[in-house]
Amino acid sequence: MSTIAAISTPNAVGGIAVIRISGENAIEVADKIFNPFHGKKVIEMEGYTCAYGIANNDGERIDDCILTVFKAPHSYTGEDTVEISCHGGLFVSRKILRAALKNGATNAEAGEFTKRAFLNGKIDLTQAEAVMDIISAKSDLELKMAENLRGGAIFRKTEKCSERLLKLLGGLAAWADYPDEDIPEVEPDYIRSELEVSARELFSLIEYYDDGRIIRDGVQTVIVGRPNVGKSTLFNCLSGCERSIVTDIAGTTRDIVEETVRLGDIVLRLSDTAGIHDTDDLIENIGVEIAEKTIESAELIIAVFDGSCPPTEDDFKLIKKLKNKKCIAVINKLDAGTVPEFKKIENNFIHKVYISAKENTGINKLESAIKEIFEIYPENFSSVLVANERQKCCIEKALNCINEAIAAVDSGEMLDAINVVVDEAEQHLLELTGEKITDAVVDEVFSRFCVGK
Ligand code: GDP
Ligand code: MG
Repeated sequence: MSTIAAISTPNAVGGIAVIRISGENAIEVADKIFNPFHGKKVIEMEGYTCAYGIANNDGERIDDCILTVFKAPHSYTGEDTVEISCHGGLFVSRKILRAALKNGATNAEAGEFTKRAFLNGKIDLTQAEAVMDIISAKSDLELKMAENLRGGAIFRKTEKCSERLLKLLGGLAAWADYPDEDIPEVEPDYIRSELEVSARELFSLIEYYDDGRIIRDGVQTVIVGRPNVGKSTLFNCLSGCERSIVTDIAGTTRDIVEETVRLGDIVLRLSDTAGIHDTDDLIENIGVEIAEKTIESAELIIAVFDGSCPPTEDDFKLIKKLKNKKCIAVINKLDAGTVPEFKKIENNFIHKVYISAKENTGINKLESAIKEIFEIYPENFSSVLVANERQKCCIEKALNCINEAIAAVDSGEMLDAINVVVDEAEQHLLELTGEKITDAVVDEVFSRFCVGK
């Protein structure tokens, strides 16, 4: 494979920048642009060693750098790899990259280092995908899930399942292909039980997929309530900035204001909406209609009420709209006291939280309530492995085939018909780990990476 090079650190000024070169000629390329101070040439250096020296372009000094050598197959990509750490200015790192390109390397494409690690058998496709998840992790839980995957957890689980299916296929094929030999028929009970174990294993992989998705993608959340209860104040409090305009004039918020906010382990894709009430103002009315629509599509509704004054007709109308929705009642303005009539509101909700958005108190209770609603318990997340739709889809397809095979066994179908469906299940598992996959899918997976990874 050709020798590729890229700046692996962000496209920004920083303490250091790293230029990575990987491929057959990586060490020769580095040798032409780097002179170690210890006197040895780069081509004489051992793997896993580094040298302090000067990067240059045709003898013109660029910068003092540290160069690290990784010899194939003991590198991230599985190829000879060199990393040059220079001072973190964009100009310096680009000059070193240009020198590498001039001396035989070509520009790496997005994700090409990781793609090579996959193509060279260092990691399977699910592990490569996990690398991307680690880079984009926004919370401890998300990182933990990605680390599980990076460690090859899916690969190990599906490998066991694959082995079982292959053994079964072997038995089925031998019996079908050599009818004249004295090979015992594979017992339907045996086939059935092996298929059932496989089905259970695969199901356990996708069982908690949605929990993982919530941690990764965030919860689509909408803040609703009648005017002036403090929705925008809560929105600003959660987003940590004055994004939504707050006044004591009813009808201030009209358009939807959106922000992605993090509340402990949970990411909320949060929308602030217009206060829901009857109004003659044409523009405000459009806002109210939009707010009502978002109630239908949101995954979570934060219904805000003003606890410091008696509930109004608009509050009760809103409660009716929230029936059977995932919802938390937030009783706001705790600092201004609560009126006893509020019991009538509270009793309509399973999850309720008392806060003062203005004084930023009680917000952590909101986090606990959300975790309770979505059953987000860190201990559950060790079993969340499947990280994306591609993986889920492969497992689902394999599972469908296995269930089809079980039904075929039950209806007494011919063994070679069962063989075909089990083989298909096996193909989907190979697609999951990338052992058998089209170039188009590989390109699609790696196109989501950044250059230099
Ligand atoms: P919205 O119409 O529901 O978006 O309400 P706003 O966030 O615009 O707030 C309406 C008024 O209530 C403003 O004057 C806020 O300062 C006030 N307010 C909001 N939250 C609190 C709170 O926790 N305590 C008190 N005392 N006032 C609040
Ligand atoms: Mg508002």
